[in-house]
Amino acid sequence: MGVKTETDIFHHSMLEDDPNSNTQIDKEEVKPRWGPQHAGAKELASQYTFGKRVQEIICLVLSIGLMIFNFIQLCIHFNPANAHYIIICAGLGIVTADFFSGLVHWAADTWGTVELPVVGKAFIRPFREHHIDPTAITRHDFVETNGDNFAVTIPFIASMAYRFLTYTPEQIQAEYNWLSFLFLLGIFISVTNQCHKWSHTYFGLPWYITLLQDYHIILPRKHHRIHHVAPHETYYCITTGWLNYPFEYIRFWPRFEAAIEALTGSKPRADDLQWAKKVS
Ligand SMILES: [Zn+2]
Ligand SMILES: [Zn+2]
Repeated sequence: MGVKTETDIFHHSMLEDDPNSNTQIDKEEVKPRWGPQHAGAKELASQYTFGKRVQEIICLVLSIGLMIFNFIQLCIHFNPANAHYIIICAGLGIVTADFFSGLVHWAADTWGTVELPVVGKAFIRPFREHHIDPTAITRHDFVETNGDNFAVTIPFIASMAYRFLTYTPEQIQAEYNWLSFLFLLGIFISVTNQCHKWSHTYFGLPWYITLLQDYHIILPRKHHRIHHVAPHETYYCITTGWLNYPFEYIRFWPRFEAAIEALTGSKPRADDLQWAKKVS
């Protein structure tokens, strides 16, 4: 199924389905290679600040409020004759969200450093932490898991709400399909990291979540393991993971990286590798 063999997975990624809190020890180095005891993971986890948490809570409340408002408006203006378009919009919304999940994940994994002003600590840090302690996400609560994803939807779901408030019913009808697409895109972007968290959860998932994973409606656990094989250079899409297959086939990410490296001289994943090697 994937592009990594069972041997690759065993030697170059953390065993997530073991119940030992995932602190694999490398026999020669006597240092944890992954997990919460890894020196880099401890340092990165300690950089999650109170200010960041407040920002996440504000964004979650605002985003969920806007989504509820938009959903009510979509219901009020729903025309049953358009139902088939809405199903098409749902599909396009899912695929577009999967694409953005891959693009943002790839960009944060591949370029930049935790030391960059503003974005380093707030945005790049969780991606570095996730590679050296992949199951930390399963210990994060709803706010820490979902705050950033809900935040990025705010500009366009706020603009949707503004249109509902200022447009005439005729103008809303004229844009209804586009608004449905935007709404579903926003929903799927918002739930991306929750789907990602479930893909790392090997114990205690509700049966309906594992069913959605087994039918590959959301990101399956076995599928996402492929990304977590060092050096983390493929399978970046994490909403459903559907686009990972065609992107692998056309070598989308390596080509993109080669172009950027040729233009800027930056080495892909240089910062990620530094954190992986951190021992004290
Ligand atoms: Zn990653
Ligand atoms: Zn992951």
